[in-house]
Amino acid sequence: MIRFEEISPSDFFYRNREITGFENPAKACYTIVREYLENSLDSCELGGFLPNIEIYLKCENEEEKRLRIKVADNGMGIPHEKIPYAFGKILYSSKYVLRQHRGIFGLGGKMAVLYCQITTNKPVRVISATPGSEFISYFELKIDIVRNEPNVVKRSKVLNQDNWHGLVLESEFIGDYLLSKKKIMEYLFQTSIAVPYARIYYQDFEGNALIFDRKTDKLPPIPEETLLHPRGVDLEMLKRLIKTSPGMPLNKFLVKRFQRIGNKTAEEISKLANIELDKIVSKLNEDEISRLYQIMKTYPFNKPNVSSLSPLGEAFAIGIKEAFKPEFLAYDIREPSSYEGHPFIVETAIAYGGEIPIPEQNEINLYRFANKIPLIYDSYNDVSTKVIKEINWNVYKINIYQDPIAFFVHICSTKIPYKTLGKEYIANQPEVYREIELSLRKNARVVSAYINKKRIIEYQKIRYRYLKEYIEKIANFACILSGEKFSYIKNNLLKLVEINEVSS
Ligand code: ADP
Ligand code: MG
Repeated sequence: MIRFEEISPSDFFYRNREITGFENPAKACYTIVREYLENSLDSCELGGFLPNIEIYLKCENEEEKRLRIKVADNGMGIPHEKIPYAFGKILYSSKYVLRQHRGIFGLGGKMAVLYCQITTNKPVRVISATPGSEFISYFELKIDIVRNEPNVVKRSKVLNQDNWHGLVLESEFIGDYLLSKKKIMEYLFQTSIAVPYARIYYQDFEGNALIFDRKTDKLPPIPEETLLHPRGVDLEMLKRLIKTSPGMPLNKFLVKRFQRIGNKTAEEISKLANIELDKIVSKLNEDEISRLYQIMKTYPFNKPNVSSLSPLGEAFAIGIKEAFKPEFLAYDIREPSSYEGHPFIVETAIAYGGEIPIPEQNEINLYRFANKIPLIYDSYNDVSTKVIKEINWNVYKINIYQDPIAFFVHICSTKIPYKTLGKEYIANQPEVYREIELSLRKNARVVSAYINKKRIIEYQKIRYRYLKEYIEKIANFACILSGEKFSYIKNNLLKLVEINEVSS
Protein backbone atom coordinates (compact mmCIF):
# COMPACT_ATOMS: atom_id res chain seq x y z
CA MET A 1 0.00 0.00 0.00
CA ILE A 2 1.28 3.50 -0.79
CA ARG A 3 1.80 5.63 2.30
CA PHE A 4 1.33 9.38 1.93
CA GLU A 5 2.72 11.93 4.34
CA GLU A 6 3.18 15.64 4.60
CA ILE A 7 6.40 17.33 5.63
CA SER A 8 7.04 20.84 6.92
CA PRO A 9 9.29 23.40 5.16
CA SER A 10 11.96 22.76 7.83
CA ASP A 11 11.79 19.07 7.14
CA PHE A 12 11.98 19.65 3.41
CA PHE A 13 15.12 21.78 3.70
CA TYR A 14 16.56 19.41 6.28
CA ARG A 15 16.23 16.58 3.76
CA ASN A 16 17.45 18.68 0.82
CA ARG A 17 20.06 20.89 2.44
CA GLU A 18 22.44 20.59 -0.51
CA ILE A 19 20.22 22.90 -2.58
CA THR A 20 20.88 25.77 -0.18
CA GLY A 21 24.65 25.41 -0.01
CA PHE A 22 25.03 22.91 2.85
CA GLU A 23 26.09 19.86 0.84
CA ASN A 24 29.25 19.08 2.84
CA PRO A 25 31.14 20.41 5.91
CA ALA A 26 33.40 22.62 3.78
CA LYS A 27 30.61 24.30 1.82
CA ALA A 28 28.54 24.53 5.01
CA CYS A 29 31.33 26.43 6.78
CA TYR A 30 31.52 28.93 3.94
CA THR A 31 27.73 29.27 3.69
CA ILE A 32 27.29 29.90 7.43
CA VAL A 33 29.82 32.76 7.42
CA ARG A 34 28.18 34.15 4.36
CA GLU A 35 24.56 33.97 5.51
CA TYR A 36 25.29 35.51 8.92
CA LEU A 37 27.37 38.29 7.40
CA GLU A 38 24.74 39.05 4.76
CA ASN A 39 22.01 39.28 7.37
CA SER A 40 24.17 41.67 9.40
CA LEU A 41 24.92 43.89 6.41
CA ASP A 42 21.24 43.97 5.39
CA SER A 43 20.25 44.99 8.89
CA CYS A 44 22.85 47.76 9.22
CA GLU A 45 22.12 49.23 5.82
CA LEU A 46 18.38 49.19 6.28
CA GLY A 47 18.77 51.12 9.51
CA GLY A 48 21.17 53.57 7.85
CA PHE A 49 24.03 52.53 10.20
CA LEU A 50 27.58 52.34 8.89
CA PRO A 51 28.19 48.61 9.35
CA ASN A 52 30.61 47.46 11.99
CA ILE A 53 30.75 43.68 11.91
CA GLU A 54 32.95 41.23 13.75
CA ILE A 55 33.23 37.53 12.96
CA TYR A 56 35.07 35.05 15.15
CA LEU A 57 35.64 31.43 14.25
CA LYS A 58 36.85 29.09 16.98
CA CYS A 59 37.60 25.40 17.07
CA GLU A 60 35.86 23.57 19.91
CA ASN A 61 37.01 20.08 19.04
CA GLU A 62 39.63 19.47 16.40
CA GLU A 63 38.96 15.77 15.89
CA GLU A 64 35.23 16.25 15.44
CA LYS A 65 35.83 19.42 13.40
CA ARG A 66 33.40 21.12 15.74
CA LEU A 67 33.60 24.87 15.18
CA ARG A 68 31.96 27.83 16.85
CA ILE A 69 31.06 31.00 15.00
CA LYS A 70 30.15 34.34 16.53
CA VAL A 71 28.98 37.26 14.45
CA ALA A 72 28.24 40.66 15.99
CA ASP A 73 26.73 43.67 14.22
CA ASN A 74 25.47 47.17 14.97
CA GLY A 75 22.29 46.88 12.92
CA MET A 76 18.59 47.18 13.65
CA GLY A 77 18.40 44.06 15.80
CA ILE A 78 15.17 42.07 16.05
CA PRO A 79 12.26 42.80 18.42
CA HIS A 80 12.18 40.41 21.39
CA GLU A 81 9.05 38.51 20.42
CA LYS A 82 10.16 38.06 16.78
CA ILE A 83 13.58 36.56 17.54
CA PRO A 84 12.40 32.93 17.89
CA TYR A 85 10.68 33.08 14.49
CA ALA A 86 13.47 34.93 12.69
CA PHE A 87 15.85 32.09 13.57
CA GLY A 88 13.53 29.18 14.28
CA LYS A 89 10.92 29.09 11.55
CA ILE A 90 11.94 28.43 7.98
CA LEU A 91 10.40 30.74 5.37
CA TYR A 92 9.84 33.49 7.95
CA SER A 93 11.35 36.78 6.90
CA SER A 94 11.10 40.55 7.04
CA LYS A 95 12.31 40.65 3.46
CA TYR A 96 9.28 39.45 1.52
CA VAL A 97 8.69 43.03 0.41
CA LEU A 98 9.64 44.80 -2.77
CA ARG A 99 12.96 46.28 -1.82
CA GLN A 100 16.53 45.33 -2.60
CA HIS A 101 17.93 42.93 0.01
CA ARG A 102 20.63 40.34 0.15
CA GLY A 103 18.25 37.81 1.70
CA ILE A 104 15.22 36.87 -0.32
CA PHE A 105 13.99 33.44 0.65
CA GLY A 106 13.64 33.68 4.45
CA LEU A 107 15.97 30.76 4.52
CA GLY A 108 19.70 31.48 4.75
CA GLY A 109 20.23 32.29 8.43
CA LYS A 110 17.80 29.58 9.48
CA MET A 111 19.41 26.95 7.27
CA ALA A 112 22.61 27.80 9.12
CA VAL A 113 20.82 27.38 12.47
CA LEU A 114 19.32 24.10 11.26
CA TYR A 115 22.68 22.80 10.06
CA CYS A 116 24.31 23.74 13.38
CA GLN A 117 21.56 21.93 15.25
CA ILE A 118 21.65 18.71 13.22
CA THR A 119 25.43 18.45 13.36
CA THR A 120 26.00 19.35 17.04
CA ASN A 121 22.55 19.21 18.68
CA LYS A 122 23.31 22.59 20.26
CA PRO A 123 20.98 25.59 20.27
CA VAL A 124 21.94 28.87 18.64
CA ARG A 125 22.47 31.88 20.93
CA VAL A 126 21.04 35.26 19.98
CA ILE A 127 21.61 38.57 21.75
CA SER A 128 19.79 41.53 20.28
CA ALA A 129 18.38 44.99 20.86
CA THR A 130 16.54 47.28 18.46
CA PRO A 131 17.47 51.02 18.41
CA GLY A 132 16.07 52.75 21.46
CA SER A 133 15.10 49.48 23.12
CA GLU A 134 15.09 49.48 26.93
CA PHE A 135 16.19 45.85 27.10
CA ILE A 136 18.67 43.53 25.49
CA SER A 137 17.15 40.15 24.64
CA TYR A 138 18.93 36.86 25.11
CA PHE A 139 17.70 33.64 23.50
CA GLU A 140 18.87 30.07 23.10
CA LEU A 141 16.94 28.47 20.30
CA LYS A 142 16.46 25.34 18.29
CA ILE A 143 14.15 24.54 15.39
CA ASP A 144 11.44 21.94 15.79
CA ILE A 145 12.10 20.46 12.37
CA VAL A 146 8.94 18.38 12.11
CA ARG A 147 6.62 21.26 13.02
CA ASN A 148 8.74 24.08 11.56
CA GLU A 149 8.36 26.01 14.81
CA PRO A 150 10.97 27.61 17.04
CA ASN A 151 11.91 25.71 20.16
CA VAL A 152 13.03 28.24 22.80
CA VAL A 153 15.51 26.65 25.19
CA LYS A 154 16.23 29.80 27.24
CA ARG A 155 15.08 33.39 27.13
CA SER A 156 15.85 36.46 29.21
CA LYS A 157 16.13 40.25 29.14
CA VAL A 158 18.65 42.60 30.69
CA LEU A 159 18.62 46.40 30.89
CA ASN A 160 20.13 48.11 27.85
CA GLN A 161 22.21 50.61 29.80
CA ASP A 162 24.49 51.71 26.96
CA ASN A 163 21.74 52.14 24.39
CA TRP A 164 23.27 49.38 22.31
CA HIS A 165 21.56 48.09 19.18
CA GLY A 166 22.45 45.22 16.92
CA LEU A 167 22.62 41.49 16.99
CA VAL A 168 25.11 38.87 18.15
CA LEU A 169 24.69 35.33 16.94
CA GLU A 170 26.65 32.37 18.16
CA SER A 171 26.41 28.75 17.06
CA GLU A 172 28.35 25.52 16.86
CA PHE A 173 28.60 23.25 13.84
CA ILE A 174 30.70 20.57 12.17
CA GLY A 175 32.66 22.28 9.44
CA ASP A 176 35.76 21.75 7.37
CA TYR A 177 37.71 24.96 7.75
CA LEU A 178 40.80 23.66 5.99
CA LEU A 179 38.86 23.16 2.80
CA SER A 180 36.76 26.29 3.03
CA LYS A 181 39.28 28.80 4.38
CA LYS A 182 40.38 30.07 0.97
CA LYS A 183 36.83 30.62 -0.23
CA ILE A 184 35.84 32.35 3.01
CA MET A 185 38.78 34.73 2.80
CA GLU A 186 38.03 35.40 -0.86
CA TYR A 187 34.40 36.01 0.00
CA LEU A 188 35.31 38.51 2.70
CA PHE A 189 37.80 40.25 0.44
CA GLN A 190 35.23 40.60 -2.32
CA THR A 191 32.57 41.73 0.16
CA SER A 192 34.90 44.53 1.18
CA ILE A 193 34.98 45.66 -2.47
CA ALA A 194 31.19 45.95 -2.53
CA VAL A 195 30.84 47.58 0.89
CA PRO A 196 33.78 49.94 1.40
CA TYR A 197 31.54 51.82 3.85
CA ALA A 198 31.64 48.84 6.22
CA ARG A 199 34.21 47.84 8.78
CA ILE A 200 34.58 44.08 8.84
CA TYR A 201 36.82 42.22 11.23
CA TYR A 202 37.42 38.49 10.88
CA GLN A 203 39.46 36.28 13.16
CA ASP A 204 39.90 32.52 12.94
CA PHE A 205 41.38 29.96 15.34
CA GLU A 206 44.57 29.61 13.29
CA GLY A 207 45.68 33.10 14.16
CA ASN A 208 44.54 34.72 10.91
CA ALA A 209 42.86 38.08 11.19
CA LEU A 210 41.45 40.12 8.34
CA ILE A 211 40.59 43.74 8.93
CA PHE A 212 38.71 45.62 6.27
CA ASP A 213 38.58 49.19 7.46
CA ARG A 214 35.95 51.64 6.36
CA LYS A 215 37.10 53.61 3.28
CA THR A 216 34.12 55.95 3.02
CA ASP A 217 31.42 57.22 5.35
CA LYS A 218 28.86 57.45 2.60
CA LEU A 219 26.21 54.74 2.60
CA PRO A 220 24.46 54.06 -0.72
CA PRO A 221 20.82 55.22 -0.70
CA ILE A 222 18.55 53.15 1.57
CA PRO A 223 16.16 51.33 -0.74
CA GLU A 224 12.47 52.10 -0.29
CA GLU A 225 9.67 49.60 -0.24
CA THR A 226 7.60 49.84 -3.43
CA LEU A 227 4.36 48.54 -4.86
CA LEU A 228 4.34 45.83 -7.48
CA HIS A 229 4.76 46.80 -11.09
CA PRO A 230 1.74 45.48 -13.02
CA ARG A 231 4.01 43.61 -15.41
CA GLY A 232 5.58 41.66 -12.55
CA VAL A 233 2.27 40.15 -11.45
CA ASP A 234 1.10 36.70 -12.45
CA LEU A 235 -2.44 35.40 -12.29
CA GLU A 236 -2.02 33.84 -8.85
CA MET A 237 -0.59 37.07 -7.45
CA LEU A 238 -3.40 39.10 -9.00
CA LYS A 239 -5.97 36.85 -7.31
CA ARG A 240 -4.21 37.17 -3.96
CA LEU A 241 -4.16 40.96 -4.25
CA ILE A 242 -7.86 40.94 -5.07
CA LYS A 243 -8.53 38.76 -2.02
CA THR A 244 -6.71 41.17 0.24
CA SER A 245 -8.61 44.20 -1.16
CA PRO A 246 -12.20 43.53 -0.09
CA GLY A 247 -14.76 46.15 -1.05
CA MET A 248 -12.33 48.03 -3.32
CA PRO A 249 -13.64 49.25 -6.68
CA LEU A 250 -11.46 48.44 -9.71
CA ASN A 251 -10.05 51.95 -10.18
CA LYS A 252 -9.00 52.26 -6.54
CA PHE A 253 -7.57 48.72 -6.60
CA LEU A 254 -5.39 49.46 -9.64
CA VAL A 255 -4.13 52.80 -8.34
CA LYS A 256 -3.55 51.67 -4.73
CA ARG A 257 -2.04 48.23 -5.33
CA PHE A 258 0.31 48.93 -8.24
CA GLN A 259 2.98 51.38 -9.17
CA ARG A 260 2.77 53.24 -12.47
CA ILE A 261 -1.06 53.25 -12.55
CA GLY A 262 -2.84 56.59 -12.10
CA ASN A 263 -6.52 57.39 -12.58
CA LYS A 264 -6.20 57.82 -16.34
CA THR A 265 -4.35 54.53 -16.84
CA ALA A 266 -6.86 52.76 -14.59
CA GLU A 267 -9.67 54.08 -16.80
CA GLU A 268 -7.96 52.85 -19.94
CA ILE A 269 -7.32 49.43 -18.44
CA SER A 270 -10.93 49.06 -17.37
CA LYS A 271 -12.08 49.97 -20.88
CA LEU A 272 -9.65 47.58 -22.55
CA ALA A 273 -10.60 44.76 -20.16
CA ASN A 274 -14.26 45.62 -20.60
CA ILE A 275 -14.95 45.84 -16.84
CA GLU A 276 -16.79 48.74 -15.21
CA LEU A 277 -14.44 51.11 -13.43
CA ASP A 278 -16.38 50.97 -10.17
CA LYS A 279 -16.92 47.22 -10.07
CA ILE A 280 -15.89 45.81 -6.68
CA VAL A 281 -12.84 43.63 -7.37
CA SER A 282 -13.85 40.83 -5.02
CA LYS A 283 -16.94 40.43 -7.23
CA LEU A 284 -14.93 39.91 -10.45
CA ASN A 285 -15.59 36.53 -12.04
CA GLU A 286 -12.83 34.25 -13.42
CA ASP A 287 -13.35 35.56 -16.94
CA GLU A 288 -12.98 39.17 -15.87
CA ILE A 289 -9.87 38.40 -13.83
CA SER A 290 -8.32 36.71 -16.86
CA ARG A 291 -9.15 39.70 -19.06
CA LEU A 292 -7.70 42.09 -16.52
CA TYR A 293 -4.55 39.97 -16.32
CA GLN A 294 -4.15 39.90 -20.11
CA ILE A 295 -4.38 43.69 -20.33
CA MET A 296 -1.85 44.09 -17.51
CA LYS A 297 0.56 41.88 -19.44
CA THR A 298 0.31 43.94 -22.63
CA TYR A 299 -0.44 47.53 -21.61
CA PRO A 300 2.54 49.87 -22.24
CA PHE A 301 3.22 50.88 -18.62
CA ASN A 302 6.11 53.13 -17.70
CA LYS A 303 9.22 51.32 -16.49
CA PRO A 304 9.27 50.18 -12.84
CA ASN A 305 10.15 52.65 -10.13
CA VAL A 306 13.75 52.25 -8.99
CA SER A 307 13.61 53.80 -5.52
CA SER A 308 13.51 50.19 -4.27
CA LEU A 309 17.06 49.73 -5.57
CA SER A 310 20.39 50.72 -4.11
CA PRO A 311 23.25 50.58 -6.60
CA LEU A 312 26.76 51.01 -5.23
CA GLY A 313 27.76 53.99 -7.39
CA GLU A 314 30.88 55.74 -6.17
CA ALA A 315 31.39 53.10 -3.45
CA PHE A 316 32.04 50.46 -6.11
CA ALA A 317 34.95 52.43 -7.58
CA ILE A 318 36.30 53.16 -4.08
CA GLY A 319 36.15 49.45 -3.18
CA ILE A 320 37.91 48.35 -6.35
CA LYS A 321 40.62 51.00 -6.06
CA GLU A 322 41.31 50.05 -2.48
CA ALA A 323 41.45 46.34 -3.25
CA PHE A 324 43.59 46.39 -6.41
CA LYS A 325 45.21 49.85 -6.66
CA PRO A 326 44.67 49.67 -10.42
CA GLU A 327 46.62 51.88 -12.75
CA PHE A 328 43.39 52.73 -14.54
CA LEU A 329 39.72 52.18 -13.80
CA ALA A 330 36.67 52.71 -16.00
CA TYR A 331 33.30 52.65 -14.22
CA ASP A 332 29.83 52.86 -15.69
CA ILE A 333 26.30 52.71 -14.36
CA ARG A 334 23.40 52.00 -16.71
CA GLU A 335 20.01 53.63 -16.63
CA PRO A 336 17.46 51.50 -14.76
CA SER A 337 15.91 48.71 -16.76
CA SER A 338 13.48 45.87 -16.09
CA TYR A 339 12.71 42.27 -16.88
CA GLU A 340 9.26 40.79 -16.37
CA GLY A 341 8.28 43.86 -14.34
CA HIS A 342 11.27 43.59 -11.98
CA PRO A 343 13.46 46.70 -11.95
CA PHE A 344 17.19 46.28 -12.11
CA ILE A 345 20.33 48.36 -12.51
CA VAL A 346 23.64 47.15 -13.86
CA GLU A 347 26.92 48.80 -12.98
CA THR A 348 30.26 47.56 -14.23
CA ALA A 349 33.92 48.47 -14.06
CA ILE A 350 37.06 47.40 -15.86
CA ALA A 351 40.33 47.79 -14.00
CA TYR A 352 43.74 47.69 -15.61
CA GLY A 353 47.24 47.27 -14.18
CA GLY A 354 48.35 48.00 -10.64
CA GLU A 355 47.78 44.93 -8.49
CA ILE A 356 45.42 43.29 -11.00
CA PRO A 357 47.05 39.93 -11.73
CA ILE A 358 47.47 38.30 -15.12
CA PRO A 359 44.64 35.72 -15.20
CA GLU A 360 45.42 32.06 -14.64
CA GLN A 361 45.51 29.94 -17.77
CA ASN A 362 42.21 30.08 -19.71
CA GLU A 363 40.60 32.04 -16.89
CA ILE A 364 39.37 35.61 -16.81
CA ASN A 365 39.49 38.00 -13.88
CA LEU A 366 35.80 38.45 -13.27
CA TYR A 367 34.24 39.66 -10.01
CA ARG A 368 30.49 39.24 -9.88
CA PHE A 369 28.14 40.91 -7.42
CA ALA A 370 24.38 40.73 -6.98
CA ASN A 371 22.63 43.04 -4.52
CA LYS A 372 26.09 43.74 -3.05
CA ILE A 373 26.81 40.04 -2.50
CA PRO A 374 29.95 38.65 -4.13
CA LEU A 375 29.23 35.49 -6.10
CA ILE A 376 32.15 33.12 -5.75
CA TYR A 377 30.99 29.75 -7.04
CA ASP A 378 29.73 28.67 -10.49
CA SER A 379 31.15 31.60 -12.41
CA TYR A 380 31.29 29.45 -15.54
CA ASN A 381 27.50 29.40 -15.81
CA ASP A 382 26.94 33.06 -15.01
CA VAL A 383 25.47 35.55 -17.47
CA SER A 384 28.46 37.91 -17.02
CA THR A 385 30.91 35.18 -18.03
CA LYS A 386 28.80 34.53 -21.10
CA VAL A 387 28.75 38.21 -22.06
CA ILE A 388 32.51 38.58 -21.66
CA LYS A 389 33.27 35.44 -23.64
CA GLU A 390 31.00 36.54 -26.47
CA ILE A 391 32.46 40.03 -26.92
CA ASN A 392 35.15 40.27 -29.57
CA TRP A 393 37.93 41.84 -27.50
CA ASN A 394 40.24 42.19 -30.50
CA VAL A 395 38.18 45.25 -31.41
CA TYR A 396 39.41 46.84 -28.18
CA LYS A 397 42.93 45.44 -28.54
CA ILE A 398 42.47 43.73 -25.17
CA ASN A 399 43.50 40.17 -24.43
CA ILE A 400 41.23 39.11 -21.57
CA TYR A 401 43.30 35.98 -20.91
CA GLN A 402 46.72 37.61 -20.82
CA ASP A 403 46.39 41.31 -19.95
CA PRO A 404 46.26 42.51 -16.32
CA ILE A 405 42.56 43.26 -16.74
CA ALA A 406 39.70 42.60 -14.31
CA PHE A 407 35.98 42.90 -14.88
CA PHE A 408 33.51 43.85 -12.16
CA VAL A 409 29.77 43.43 -12.64
CA HIS A 410 27.12 44.41 -10.09
CA ILE A 411 23.42 43.80 -10.66
CA CYS A 412 20.90 45.11 -8.21
CA SER A 413 17.25 44.23 -8.38
CA THR A 414 14.21 43.50 -6.27
CA LYS A 415 14.43 40.05 -7.84
CA ILE A 416 17.83 38.84 -8.95
CA PRO A 417 17.34 36.08 -11.52
CA TYR A 418 19.39 33.56 -9.54
CA LYS A 419 19.56 30.06 -10.92
CA THR A 420 19.79 28.32 -7.54
CA LEU A 421 18.65 28.78 -3.95
CA GLY A 422 22.33 28.92 -3.00
CA LYS A 423 22.46 32.32 -4.82
CA GLU A 424 25.62 31.57 -6.76
CA TYR A 425 25.01 32.52 -10.36
CA ILE A 426 22.68 34.57 -12.45
CA ALA A 427 20.51 33.27 -15.26
CA ASN A 428 20.92 34.40 -18.81
CA GLN A 429 17.98 36.82 -18.84
CA PRO A 430 18.12 38.65 -22.23
CA GLU A 431 17.50 42.11 -20.73
CA VAL A 432 20.18 41.59 -18.08
CA TYR A 433 22.60 40.23 -20.69
CA ARG A 434 22.06 43.29 -22.86
CA GLU A 435 22.63 45.77 -20.05
CA ILE A 436 25.84 44.05 -18.93
CA GLU A 437 27.11 43.97 -22.49
CA LEU A 438 26.39 47.65 -23.16
CA SER A 439 28.00 48.71 -19.91
CA LEU A 440 31.10 46.58 -20.39
CA ARG A 441 31.50 47.79 -23.96
CA LYS A 442 31.36 51.40 -22.81
CA ASN A 443 34.09 50.75 -20.26
CA ALA A 444 36.08 48.72 -22.77
CA ARG A 445 36.25 51.71 -25.12
CA VAL A 446 37.65 53.90 -22.35
CA VAL A 447 40.16 51.29 -21.15
CA SER A 448 41.17 50.51 -24.70
CA ALA A 449 41.86 54.20 -25.39
CA TYR A 450 44.01 54.36 -22.25
CA ILE A 451 45.98 51.21 -23.08
CA ASN A 452 46.52 52.34 -26.66
CA LYS A 453 47.80 55.73 -25.56
CA LYS A 454 50.10 53.97 -23.13
CA ARG A 455 51.40 51.68 -25.86
CA ILE A 456 52.08 54.63 -28.19
CA ILE A 457 53.97 56.46 -25.44
CA GLU A 458 56.05 53.40 -24.69
CA TYR A 459 56.85 53.00 -28.36
CA GLN A 460 57.88 56.63 -28.61
CA LYS A 461 60.07 56.31 -25.53
CA ILE A 462 61.94 53.42 -27.11
CA ARG A 463 62.32 55.39 -30.32
CA TYR A 464 63.78 58.39 -28.51
CA ARG A 465 66.11 56.26 -26.44
CA TYR A 466 67.35 54.75 -29.69
CA LEU A 467 67.67 58.18 -31.28
CA LYS A 468 69.69 59.45 -28.36
CA GLU A 469 72.25 56.72 -28.91
CA TYR A 470 72.81 57.87 -32.48
CA ILE A 471 72.70 61.59 -31.80
CA GLU A 472 76.49 62.06 -32.09
CA LYS A 473 76.55 60.51 -35.52
CA ILE A 474 73.51 62.40 -36.76
CA ALA A 475 74.97 65.68 -35.47
CA ASN A 476 78.24 64.91 -37.22
CA PHE A 477 76.56 64.33 -40.57
CA ALA A 478 74.35 67.37 -40.15
CA CYS A 479 77.37 69.47 -39.29
CA ILE A 480 79.18 68.39 -42.47
CA LEU A 481 76.09 68.97 -44.60
CA SER A 482 75.04 72.32 -43.14
CA GLY A 483 78.35 73.77 -42.02
CA GLU A 484 76.81 74.62 -38.63
CA LYS A 485 78.82 74.04 -35.45
CA PHE A 486 78.75 70.45 -34.15
CA SER A 487 77.97 71.44 -30.56
CA TYR A 488 75.12 73.71 -31.67
CA ILE A 489 73.44 70.91 -33.70
CA LYS A 490 73.98 68.30 -31.00
CA ASN A 491 72.49 70.54 -28.30
CA ASN A 492 69.46 71.29 -30.43
CA LEU A 493 68.93 67.60 -31.22
CA LEU A 494 69.26 66.73 -27.54
CA LYS A 495 66.75 69.39 -26.61
CA LEU A 496 64.31 68.00 -29.20
CA VAL A 497 64.63 64.47 -27.81
CA GLU A 498 64.20 65.73 -24.25
CA ILE A 499 61.16 67.83 -25.14
CA ASN A 500 59.60 64.81 -26.77
CA GLU A 501 60.41 62.67 -23.77
CA VAL A 502 58.91 65.17 -21.33
CA SER A 503 55.79 65.72 -23.40
CA SER A 504 55.26 61.97 -23.64
P1 ADP B 1 16.25 36.21 4.93
O1 ADP B 1 17.55 36.92 5.18
O2 ADP B 1 16.17 35.62 3.56
O3 ADP B 1 15.04 37.02 5.29
P2 ADP B 1 17.09 34.63 7.19
O4 ADP B 1 16.66 33.30 7.71
O5 ADP B 1 18.53 34.78 6.87
O6 ADP B 1 16.19 34.94 5.92
O7 ADP B 1 16.69 35.74 8.24
C1 ADP B 1 15.34 35.82 8.69
C2 ADP B 1 15.01 37.18 9.23
O8 ADP B 1 15.69 37.39 10.46
C3 ADP B 1 15.43 38.32 8.33
O9 ADP B 1 14.43 38.58 7.38
C4 ADP B 1 15.63 39.46 9.32
O10 ADP B 1 14.41 40.10 9.57
C5 ADP B 1 16.05 38.76 10.59
N1 ADP B 1 17.51 38.82 10.83
C6 ADP B 1 18.42 37.85 10.59
N2 ADP B 1 19.67 38.24 10.96
C7 ADP B 1 19.54 39.50 11.43
C8 ADP B 1 20.45 40.48 11.96
N3 ADP B 1 21.77 40.23 12.06
N4 ADP B 1 19.94 41.66 12.37
C9 ADP B 1 18.63 41.93 12.27
N5 ADP B 1 17.72 41.06 11.76
C10 ADP B 1 18.16 39.87 11.35
MG1 MG C 1 19.39 35.99 5.24
